[in-house]
Amino acid sequence: MGWGCDLTWIDKRKVVCMQGMKAGALFGTALAGILASSVPAWAQTAGSPTDEARVKGAGTSAGGAAPMAADIFAPLAYPQPENAYRAGSGLPGPAYWQNRADYSIAARIDPATHVLSGSETITYTNNSPDTLDVLWIQLDQNIYRPDSRAASAAHESHGSHPGMTSVHTDGVVIEHAAVDGAAVTPLVSDTRMQLRLARPLPPKGRVAVRISWHYTVPGTWGGRTAVSDTKNGPIYEIAQWYPRMEVYDDRRGWNTLPYLGQEFFLDYGDFDYSVEVPWNYTVAGSGALTNPNDVLTAAERARLAQAGRSETRVMIRTPADVTDPHSHAASSGTKTWHFHMANTRDVSFAASPAFVWDAAHIDLPDESPGPGRPKQPRLAMSVYPVEGIGAHGWDRSTTYVKHAIEYFSSMWFVYPWPNAINLGGYGAGMEYPGIVFDGWSDRDPELFWITTHELGHGWFPMIVGTDERRRAWMDEGFNTFIDAYASDHFNHGEFAPKQDSEFAPKTGVPADDIVPILTDANAPTLMTPADLVSERYRHSVTYFKSAYGLKLLREQILGPDRFDAAFRRYIAVWAFKHPGPSDFFRIMESEGGEDLSWFWRGWYFRNWSPNYAIAGTSYVDGDPSHGLVVHVENRGSLPLPVVLRREFSDGTHADTRIPTETWMRQKTATLTFPGGPKVTRVRLDPDHVIPDVDRADNDAEVGVH
Ligand SMILES: [Zn+2]
Repeated sequence: MGWGCDLTWIDKRKVVCMQGMKAGALFGTALAGILASSVPAWAQTAGSPTDEARVKGAGTSAGGAAPMAADIFAPLAYPQPENAYRAGSGLPGPAYWQNRADYSIAARIDPATHVLSGSETITYTNNSPDTLDVLWIQLDQNIYRPDSRAASAAHESHGSHPGMTSVHTDGVVIEHAAVDGAAVTPLVSDTRMQLRLARPLPPKGRVAVRISWHYTVPGTWGGRTAVSDTKNGPIYEIAQWYPRMEVYDDRRGWNTLPYLGQEFFLDYGDFDYSVEVPWNYTVAGSGALTNPNDVLTAAERARLAQAGRSETRVMIRTPADVTDPHSHAASSGTKTWHFHMANTRDVSFAASPAFVWDAAHIDLPDESPGPGRPKQPRLAMSVYPVEGIGAHGWDRSTTYVKHAIEYFSSMWFVYPWPNAINLGGYGAGMEYPGIVFDGWSDRDPELFWITTHELGHGWFPMIVGTDERRRAWMDEGFNTFIDAYASDHFNHGEFAPKQDSEFAPKTGVPADDIVPILTDANAPTLMTPADLVSERYRHSVTYFKSAYGLKLLREQILGPDRFDAAFRRYIAVWAFKHPGPSDFFRIMESEGGEDLSWFWRGWYFRNWSPNYAIAGTSYVDGDPSHGLVVHVENRGSLPLPVVLRREFSDGTHADTRIPTETWMRQKTATLTFPGGPKVTRVRLDPDHVIPDVDRADNDAEVGVH
């Protein structure tokens, strides 16, 4: 990218380009020098934070007069104060704690009735400084009850629940609940269940919760979890399937927002789970299969071993196997598949007699499938019905899986789990740790983009455990951000640029495609709680605007070197923990080395936008050899760095980068360039890398006002 050259101050209204400055210095000493000479006194001392509610021009900048510079650049008061649990640096504080939930689950599917039944033991560890007198547990399947809160809110709910107003289940039936062996009567409220503890759970205490339950698996109208028919039998996509602990944390105690269709917030722990299915079913699940000798044939096990040495896919179950009853390890009754996954917030699985199954090696160090078991090669895998087969379809799925896991591992944080599986189901487009649910009918770029996106959720929120229910932009947007680069990286850009409903949907140029959102007075801000964001804005704000914010931060504000180091630090220190927005804002400032109050305020707390204009040009003394003067006006509310290009009469051009600090005390900057060749035009943001909301005034013929 053309970084151009930076500016230095002559006086408060005049800047000149320092020719020959290296691009690498743009974000280092050069900017530090500008800051030292230009930052107002209030920004250099720790003044009292500005109350966001009092900042003028709080709405979209399109709706009226732009806010004043003092409001744009005022120190930002973060929603979460720093304390012993969460440090001002954005790191977990010295007293940070997090509770832990380990699960042992045995489940069974009855295909005749579509009933899934199970029993589980949750070993819950209280690492908080508080004594707990109740436990709160999530009963997500109650979202399908006719009297659920989500059923009433469905018209403004997640788009994959269109049937929620007309088709229902009875939700989850709790057959029995006990704490440390003593039966308790659960108190169920919508998608939550409270268990009152006969003996309060003290700090560092541990309790065993035993629950038995069953529910009817919804049809495809279930959205994220469903059973659907294919030519060779049903596919069960099983998620949000067992009673799961709510998160108790330092910010608000129990996190008990009901499940209205947004996503999830979960603690970490180790999972052992088993699934009993008919003899001819194959189960693909989160983590690693721990009893292959019981459920796989010798041929299937040999093929898996071969896949562990192969960079290209090896068929574990072929299309011919799917219709061959002798291709299974049993010929009647049921089989029970055991899985283990360590240090994860959730597990899911898919089961079907219709699965074609292929796998290839993931180029990461071997991983143990469970405690005391030797390390094994890690596998990228795909399971799908024969309907998904095709050179443009699922024949390439495992290649996409392998690329996503290896690429994201090399860029951001090494994938911590044994396997990664892509399921070709009816098309939920949903992410779970170690397994994602996609559509067998997806082809070419759609299959690549959805596979990469859902697996990218392995990093956000499966590794960095944010609260999806409140802050969907912290997983959907952050994931979409890393996905855009994955599209550029795969197979020499075969599917680049990423251009789908989640990112730059109209032209593939995010600076242009985001403008309708920035100028929409009704658009929610990124900080709007996820339950309040209507379907109309879910992709454009939660995914696209959030992802593009990080792209602006990386490419236009910090530069890749500083951004990547800071973002990797954010991921590393918050891996398997629960960061909030304030933690993220703080660590990117501290590690990135900039006061970003103006950017967080404008892009995340408001829908503010940049809008620069050429206000006038002239030659000094009317003579190009004496110098060129360009007046640039800031009419916007998000003062992103902007490039000014001078186009010379000989067809060449030169770029000058105008930094953010230019606009701290002035609305119009006067740039004077040394004399030289005749300049025919000047252009602001010539490459469309910032979302200037009015480009009509961005370029001008020199000397024409
Ligand atoms: Zn997503």
